[in-house]
Amino acid sequence: MAENSTPRIVQLVDQRTRRLPAPPAAFSAGTRLLPKGHLQDTLHRPLHDLRISVTDRCNFRCSYCMPKEVFDKDYVYLPQSDLLSFEEITRIATQFVAHGVEKIRLTGGEPLLRKNLEVLVAQLAALRTPQGKPLDLTLTTNGALLARKAASLRAAGLQRVTVSLDGLDDAVFKRMNDVDFPVSDVLEGITAAQAAGLGPIKVNMVVKRGTNDHEILPMARHFRGSGVVLRFIEYMDVGATNGWRMDDVLPSSAVVARIQSAMPLVALQAVQAGETAQRWGYAGTDGQHDPRLGEIGVISSVTQAFCGDCSRARLSTEGQLYLCLFASQGYDLRSLVRAKTDDADLASAIAHIWQGRSDRYSALRATLAPETGAATSSAAKRVEMSYIGG
Ligand code: SAM
Ligand code: SF4
Ligand code: SF4
Repeated sequence: MAENSTPRIVQLVDQRTRRLPAPPAAFSAGTRLLPKGHLQDTLHRPLHDLRISVTDRCNFRCSYCMPKEVFDKDYVYLPQSDLLSFEEITRIATQFVAHGVEKIRLTGGEPLLRKNLEVLVAQLAALRTPQGKPLDLTLTTNGALLARKAASLRAAGLQRVTVSLDGLDDAVFKRMNDVDFPVSDVLEGITAAQAAGLGPIKVNMVVKRGTNDHEILPMARHFRGSGVVLRFIEYMDVGATNGWRMDDVLPSSAVVARIQSAMPLVALQAVQAGETAQRWGYAGTDGQHDPRLGEIGVISSVTQAFCGDCSRARLSTEGQLYLCLFASQGYDLRSLVRAKTDDADLASAIAHIWQGRSDRYSALRATLAPETGAATSSAAKRVEMSYIGG
């Protein structure tokens, strides 16, 4: 068992069966809403970003995401026929792009496990915004298959990658991925991605207090000046299986303070609204940001909610549309697509769903259960991150 030897009983509710019908099935034809241009939700947040999960499977068993004791040999993954095909994904994505989405991130599970992913990448790379701009098309991967796939993904039109890596020490990393996967293979994947032109590359490190927080400085030193942007993510209470406790969260402020004590940092401006990470640049001898030394990011999902700017929608592997990482139900777009709904009705459904959105889980987290910092009553119903993607 990873990290500690205390057995844990995890009650798993299968959220994949909980779905809401997507409008317009729920609306009469007379209420068809024909979206024009950008959509906004009830809190005036634009729809800008779409994350698409292409598989619910993974070759890692990170304890904070797919713990081995739940995702074991008896776990039943979605059958192939339930997954959206590449054509179905592209059809749905086309409507999102027509109504404001400018950035698509492929995720999972482990997206590089989906066969012929390059075909999907090429289809999405051909999409254009209403202003004729190509998309910001990116992918998050654990890096295990990246060395093999970087060149073909780039050739298909992928622009960038984000690679997850939770430490440089092999023993720590192997304990966290729980499949004995070595650090060196992920580093090789990062090098291959750089060589293929999939930059600027970001590396995501989930920080768990007492588990890998001693890897913060070695990771910072390793990537400083390398052109890679290292981002530290607060361990989140996503899903219902990872046994999350507030005590395991190391606040981003502590991460920044630790790095600051060894390598001076200066705060940088956000490049665009809705950015999840706060940026810090390494300072040169003059105390100003030295771009050659690069920057880090901190994603404070727990201690400093950024729901106010959240412009992200998530499409699950089987075509459920989720409006928040912490949602317990998605809207069934797959049934619309498979019922041969025309594009105008599909666009109308997406508009109804986004315009009705009021989700802001992280902003409410502390008020929901102040003693733990988590909405414990709803925790058992939350969808797993490996199903909707990070
Ligand atoms: N398998 C790919 C990977 O690991 O990069 C893509 C999917 S993974 C769900 C996407 C991101 O979510 C990864 O960077 C992962 O570290 C992060 N993640 C997963 N569970 C998390 C948790 N409980 N808290 C914070 N980040 C988490
Ligand atoms: Fe797999 Fe990514 Fe989840 Fe780790 S974080 S188990 S690599 S999906
Ligand atoms: Fe967006 Fe939900 Fe995360 Fe808030 S909690 S930032 S609404 S995904």
